[in-house]
Amino acid sequence: MNRPYNFSAGPAAMPDEVLQQAAAEMLDWHGSGMGVMEMSHRGKEFGQIYQEAQADLRELLALPAHFKLLFMQGGGLAENAIVPLNLSRGETADFVVTGSWSQKSAQEAARYCPAHVAASTQASGFTSLPNPATWQLSDQPAYVHICSNETINGVEYHALPDLKALGCDAPLVVDFSSHVASRPVDWSKVGLAFGGAQKNLGPAGLTLVVVRDDLLDRALPICPSALNYKTVANNESMYNTPPTYSIYIAGLVFKWLKRQGGIAAVEANNIAKATLLYAAIDKSNLYLNRVEKSVRSRMNVPFYLRDESLNDAFLAGARSAGLLQLKGHKSVGGMRASIYNAIPLEGVQALVGFMQSFEAQHA
Ligand SMILES: *Cc1c(COP(=O)(O)O)cnc(C)c1O
Repeated sequence: MNRPYNFSAGPAAMPDEVLQQAAAEMLDWHGSGMGVMEMSHRGKEFGQIYQEAQADLRELLALPAHFKLLFMQGGGLAENAIVPLNLSRGETADFVVTGSWSQKSAQEAARYCPAHVAASTQASGFTSLPNPATWQLSDQPAYVHICSNETINGVEYHALPDLKALGCDAPLVVDFSSHVASRPVDWSKVGLAFGGAQKNLGPAGLTLVVVRDDLLDRALPICPSALNYKTVANNESMYNTPPTYSIYIAGLVFKWLKRQGGIAAVEANNIAKATLLYAAIDKSNLYLNRVEKSVRSRMNVPFYLRDESLNDAFLAGARSAGLLQLKGHKSVGGMRASIYNAIPLEGVQALVGFMQSFEAQHA
């Protein structure tokens, strides 16, 4: 079956192979007589699914042994509260505000600890990243938060900042929701990273937290037990019932990623896709992307039509050409193509072909 290409920002397209396997296993997982949704999270069948998902993702992300990989719930927005509850000790945390998501993180954290904005690109419309050398970090922040890929604004860190080189010992907290597993992570720079699965890894309902062992012991007394990283870690993410079906589907995605050749191969494909799409935008007279070239996101490509009266015709034409969910986020308007791991190069080629013929028709 040839499905349309789906450019949703999230929940986002899944590999066909994964959905087909899940469909085949829906009523009876591996001869167990049960579907995965019907299994006890403490039984041996789900135990196997969980252990494989953990091991496969650790391998894909090349996660060092001194980091815990937690499977939680609540998504990126809940982590905006869970992180300060676990890491701030009520002391000041620093935020680098580079788009809608890091801005939300700073606002939410301020309910639990002083939140200091060390740098912001809001004045220039979130189209760049501030040079870390210019960040106004506080004296001894409890942690420094960045969003390494701003899903709405289309701005991505292509290298993580090195806090130590800035004379700061604090752990770096990274919201990598929308580009996790699209490229390698330099874990030597990271204290904690979190991300909802529904952008690049699987279905909604699963949230990944990667946390360095030495950060497990800092939670505020008011931190809910089920959200305390140490409790979650000590119970192998099963202090309470984890999102079992989402973990299973994400686990199938991890195996699919390994079949693609792992993160290095996936990254090369992501670079090819993004290069093709940005080149088409830049050479056109109709489409426009405002983000500084050196920090453009490989995953989320926002673009505008210079004649915005054509927006509805563009979206309708795209839909009939089998190109879905290209409408931009309501806060910024225009269009957005999210080209996560599950979008093949052919999908981006089809999009570029449609964009060019639409432009020719409306020249
Ligand atoms: C989608 C997204 C979030 C919010 O995730 P929810 O699961 O809706 O809470 C947070 N940060 C980033 C970077 C995102 O892309």
